Amino acid sequence: MSDKVYIRHREDYALEDLLPTIRDILLWGGIDKKISRQTTVLLKPNMLSRSAPDKAVTTNPAVLDCVITVLKEFGAQPQNITVADSSGGTVNRSVLRGNYKTCGFTAVCEKHGVVLYTDQKGVFVKTDGKMVKEFELIEPAVNCDVKISLAKFKTHVMTGMSGAVKNLFGTVPGLKKAEFHMRFPDKDNFCNMMVDLCETVKPDFTIIDGILGMDGDGPGGGNPKMFKVLLAGANPYYIDLAVCHMMGTPPIEFPIMRAAIERSLAPSELPDGYIEGDTEDYRVIEGFIKPKSYNVDFSDQVPYIFRWMTPILEKFLVPRPKINTDKCIGCERCRDICPQNTIAITNGKARIDPKNCIRCFCCHEMCPAKAIDVKKRGVFNI
Ligand code: SF4
Ligand code: SF4
Repeated sequence: MSDKVYIRHREDYALEDLLPTIRDILLWGGIDKKISRQTTVLLKPNMLSRSAPDKAVTTNPAVLDCVITVLKEFGAQPQNITVADSSGGTVNRSVLRGNYKTCGFTAVCEKHGVVLYTDQKGVFVKTDGKMVKEFELIEPAVNCDVKISLAKFKTHVMTGMSGAVKNLFGTVPGLKKAEFHMRFPDKDNFCNMMVDLCETVKPDFTIIDGILGMDGDGPGGGNPKMFKVLLAGANPYYIDLAVCHMMGTPPIEFPIMRAAIERSLAPSELPDGYIEGDTEDYRVIEGFIKPKSYNVDFSDQVPYIFRWMTPILEKFLVPRPKINTDKCIGCERCRDICPQNTIAITNGKARIDPKNCIRCFCCHEMCPAKAIDVKKRGVFNI
């Protein structure tokens, strides 16, 4: 498996230009050699929630459209291509159908006659992970011959970034995801679990949609921004190394990458010569806004004799979710997803009981009204 990363520039999602670019990317990745009439293919977009494409929360449907067109050119049969993701929160067939439709995936699947997966049936898979020995995954993530992940270039308030590895969390059915937050409240343990998951799903190829990406407090509430790139490759960790570079952050500072680096699955940065394609686009994005939760390390600002206090201060100052009641519409999604059951809805407004909060930020991810802020305390709330 090549660890190289391919980057292509695209101004927008206009199909006449995007299609040849996607064809070029899939040929570069050798996907044509993996496809026959009998091959079953999983396409796993990022469908975090019911969100229109211009919000940059989900993979743009134009990318999915072009990937399916090219797979059919390679010989894949529409009935053997399955588009599947499991959104966060409480999901059933009807919720998933609504999510697929709003994200623009339903129209693409109908156009091409491919299968849209609305089941949430889990299949148990044994694994030799560091944190997890068995995952329950949606069925296409286990049984398809070729798995192509279509991720989104976004920030993430808990993990810093949401790229190739994090996209695979959607192969865990519905609220089973919340169980992992309960089981691994420590961020580093959770991200080691994510690496276990990546090693279990083992996607054959990943494309990250960063034409319209997101900075700020992603993955659901950040700022949509045109980064005008697609990144692709066979090794999810190496693609995420490239994303880290473009976000202007050393990979070791993002806990998923830290876990991968410590487990020798990735180097500490993308080696020279490992980026191909439109390499002039491989640069730190000017003015990129990191999530507010990013890095609470302020020890270099504390006088030396008080450094012993920094772990205590960090515990106190760590970012927390805070409801903006003016924006809250009382939809209850945060209450339903909270793995700690620490959110109540009173008089149509959400309220967090902070003593049980594990700062997983699932509530922030799922809020459709951007009514949950990420707050640091006192002078650090900048
Ligand atoms: S209140 Fe939000 S951040 Fe805290 S445990 Fe619940 S979902 Fe996670
Ligand atoms: S905070 Fe957001 S998710 Fe929670 S009830 Fe209010 S609008 Fe809904």
